[in-house]
Amino acid sequence: MEKAFLEELLKAQKNFFWSGKTRNISFRIEALNKLKDTIKAHEEEVLGAIYKDLRKTSMDGYATEIAGVYDEINYAIKNVRSWSKVQKVETPVFLFPSKSYVHKEPFGVTLIIAPWNYPFQLLMLPLAGAIAAGNTAILKPSEISANTAAVMEKIINKVFPKEYLHVVQGGANETQTLIEMPLDYIFFTGSVAVGKAVMAAAAKNLIPLTLELGGKSPAIVHKDADLILAARKIAWGKFINAGQTCIAPDYVLVHTNRKDDFLKELKKAIRNFYGEDAAAHPRYCRIINDRHFQRLNAMLNNANTLSGGKTNAADRYIEPTIIYPVQWDDPIMRDEIFGPLLPILTYSDLDDIIRRIRERPEPLSLYLFSDDQAVQTKVIDEIPFGGGAINNTIFHIVSHFMPFGGVGTSGMGAYHGKVSFDTFSHAKSILKSSSKFDPLAAVYPHKKFFMKIMRKIIG
Ligand code: NAD
Repeated sequence: MEKAFLEELLKAQKNFFWSGKTRNISFRIEALNKLKDTIKAHEEEVLGAIYKDLRKTSMDGYATEIAGVYDEINYAIKNVRSWSKVQKVETPVFLFPSKSYVHKEPFGVTLIIAPWNYPFQLLMLPLAGAIAAGNTAILKPSEISANTAAVMEKIINKVFPKEYLHVVQGGANETQTLIEMPLDYIFFTGSVAVGKAVMAAAAKNLIPLTLELGGKSPAIVHKDADLILAARKIAWGKFINAGQTCIAPDYVLVHTNRKDDFLKELKKAIRNFYGEDAAAHPRYCRIINDRHFQRLNAMLNNANTLSGGKTNAADRYIEPTIIYPVQWDDPIMRDEIFGPLLPILTYSDLDDIIRRIRERPEPLSLYLFSDDQAVQTKVIDEIPFGGGAINNTIFHIVSHFMPFGGVGTSGMGAYHGKVSFDTFSHAKSILKSSSKFDPLAAVYPHKKFFMKIMRKIIG
């Protein structure tokens, strides 16, 4: 993608934005409906592309990539009128008789950058928020999930004028050009390393941004846990998308007393889900490309395999694999795994693992298996992480009533539902005073009683 084209595109989108069309709520609702209709009309093509990229079945493609997008769009259509209403708020007594209002304003031209692991959802979900809030958008899918990127380009660029919404293709170079432009907002989903580069570029123009990043998300199986449930939830959350999920349990911390039974249940759950040969199971995905296959293979070769471990480079297949025993300073505990390798560590002291997790970068998610209220409170209060679940995995992401996002190195800002609308809006506060009566004249330099009045009102 030529730099000159991108600069022209930005100019065209700025002009379109300032034409005022996107301020109209009916225009936004129409765009959201159009987006949903075009996805519906091309659903099979989208699912086919996701299959080509990740070997994901239509059923799983629909459940993990498309259903959430429809839900987000429907929810935005239903609520965007009330979300965008000018909100009258209270006015402090010392500003009497003025009135106070908060206007939710679109930023202008937004840039949405997506990764390859859920290539459709992670571009379309933020897009729904950007549209609802009245922005224009330049959309940059991941070049690694090339099939899905091509379909998204086709369906968006056919239905929407380029000065409103436009998909541009490219990798690091094109993205670098984009993030150096004077955009009005950047929404980035991807790795911590690239997130830092995006933030550094945005800082040069002081562009506000959201960073949805990754990290190592622990699952804690406490001594009172229901082990069958824990094993199923962890196996499902880890091996869906062949472990290439930002909120997958990266590793498990199991209480020493329950370790043997948990490992037995975990192996059973994997066998129940994927049979004796996961390679032959239609609902088991493949690794996205050779580079990631080699990266994971090197991790595997360096670790103690308890079960699984089979690979096939030509097919980019890696079997669901349990790594045990594992110590905190083993190589597999260094970086986010992002693949179907599940290290298991044991613990006997909850405070010790809380301290160890806190010493590391903040996880995007955390999962706790325990019905003990005191343990739940302790883990939630004493460990910083983006969000998570108790006696469950992954599903906290699907609720449009809860913000989704990281904290610290796992990201900043959040989205989903109304939070998406707020993320893509600037809250502009307006104090409206009367031109007839000016009690604040008391602050003028020639007035004597200012301090006296202030002390009387405020104390
Ligand atoms: P990535 O950071 O390599 O790429 C993300 C996007 O940035 C892509 O569109 C890519 O083209 C672009 N890019 C790549 N290198 C760049 C560079 N040097 N400069 C500018 N842009 C560049 O991430 P990925 O490999 O596509 O995705 C995996 C990562 O994303 C994992 O760390 C995962 O945890 C994270 N992730 C987070 C979430 C979340 O919601 N928090 C969701 C999915 C994935």
